[in-house]
Amino acid sequence: RFQVVEQGPPIEVFQINKLFIEDTFKNKVNLSVGAYRDETGKPWVLPVVQKMEKQMAADDTLLHEYLPVLGLEQFTKVSVSMLLGEDSPAIADGRAFGVQTLSGTGGLRVGSEFLNKHLKYTTFYYSNPTWENHHLVFVNSGFTQPRTYRYWDAKNRAIDFAGMLEDLKNAPENSVIILHACAHNPTGIDPTQEQWEKIADVMEERKLFPFFDSAYQGFASGDLDRDAWAVRYFVKRGFELVCAQSYAKNFGLYNERVGNLALVVADAALVPALRSQLTWIVRGSYSNPPAHGARVVANVLADSKLFDEWRDHIKFMSSRVIQMREALRAELIKLGTPGNWDHIVKQIGLFSYTGLTPRQAEYLIQQHHIYLLRSGRINICGLNPGNVAYVAAAIHDAITK
Ligand code: PMP
Repeated sequence: RFQVVEQGPPIEVFQINKLFIEDTFKNKVNLSVGAYRDETGKPWVLPVVQKMEKQMAADDTLLHEYLPVLGLEQFTKVSVSMLLGEDSPAIADGRAFGVQTLSGTGGLRVGSEFLNKHLKYTTFYYSNPTWENHHLVFVNSGFTQPRTYRYWDAKNRAIDFAGMLEDLKNAPENSVIILHACAHNPTGIDPTQEQWEKIADVMEERKLFPFFDSAYQGFASGDLDRDAWAVRYFVKRGFELVCAQSYAKNFGLYNERVGNLALVVADAALVPALRSQLTWIVRGSYSNPPAHGARVVANVLADSKLFDEWRDHIKFMSSRVIQMREALRAELIKLGTPGNWDHIVKQIGLFSYTGLTPRQAEYLIQQHHIYLLRSGRINICGLNPGNVAYVAAAIHDAITK
C-alpha cells in the first residue's frame, strides 16, 4: 500500500541545521535556524523561565487535567493585553479576546482555517519574500488563491514600498493580507510608522483583511510597545483583525509551543458566536492545548516583579543582536569587502537578509562550514565575539574569490 508514497522535499532550514550538527569542523558556525544563542553560541533558557519552572515543579496543586479547548484563560488575557496594551479600548469594550494556540504557527493555522470556513475568504497575500511557512499553512487551511505583494527591493536592500502599495491597491476585496507585526522575516526591514499609515489607508479603502503575524514582540527592539505599534494602530483605526502571537523567541520557549491567536472584532456581542466556532475548529484539530508553557508565560506576565525581570531579558537579547550587527558590519568594512553593509545594522530582529547569492551561500557552507539559508538570510544570534571575524573573512572570501 505505502509504495504509492513519494519522497517529499526537505524543509531547507531544518536540513541546513542538520548539516551543521553533523559537521565535525571545530569552528563551524550556525546562522540558519531562527533561535537565540548566547555570546558563547549556546541556546539560552531565560532565568525567569527557569525560576518559574522550579516554582511550578514544587507546586502540588498543579494538575495535569485538560485545559479548556480555547486554552488557559489567564494566559490568553495577558497575551491580548501585551499585544494591544493594557489600556486598550478594544479590551475595555470586550471586543478583543484570545485563543491559546500551538505557538505562532498554530495561531496562523487556527486563524486562517476560521477565516476560510466562516468568512469564506479564499485569497491571501504574503510579502515577497516571507517566512516560508505562510503559504503552506494558509493553503492547508483551505485558502485557494495564494498571491504575493512586493516587499524587498534587492537593488537598494530596502523595502519596495511603492510596489507593496500598488499590489495591495490591486488586491480583490476581502483578501486576507499577512503582515509581519515587527522584525520582518527574512528581510529584517519593517515599514515606518508613516508607511503603516499608508498601508492602513489602502487596506481600508480596498476592504482588505489584516492578519498580523507577531513572532518577535519585545525581541525586535527590546520595547514591547514599540514592537506592537502597527497592530495597535490598525485597532485604533477601527479595523477588525486577527493576530498570531508566538512566545518562541521572546520567552525562549521554542519547543513548548506557546502561542495565542488574538481577535479584535467590531462589537462585543459578536464574541460568543466566534468563540463557539473557534472551539469547534480546535476540537477537530487537537482538542485542547498543552498547559506547561502557557502557565509559565501567564505567571511571569501577571507578576510585576517577574515581568520586569523578563523585560530585562528581552532587552538583553535584542541588544546583543544589535551589537553583533554592528560588529559584523565593522569587520566587513575593516576587510574592505566590496559593497555597502549599512543594511546589516538598519535591519531589525533576528535576521539579516545579507544580499549574498545562493551560490555564495553554498560556498560558505562548503568551504567555510558556515551554515545559512540559500536566500542569504543569516541568523545574527549565531554570531558572537569569538566567531564574527571568522564569518566576516569568509563572506569576504565568498564575494571576492
Ligand atoms: N511567523 C514568523 C514570521 C516566524 O519567523 C516564526 C518563527 N520562525 C513563526 C511565525 C512561528 O514560529 P512558532 O510556531 O515557532 O511560534
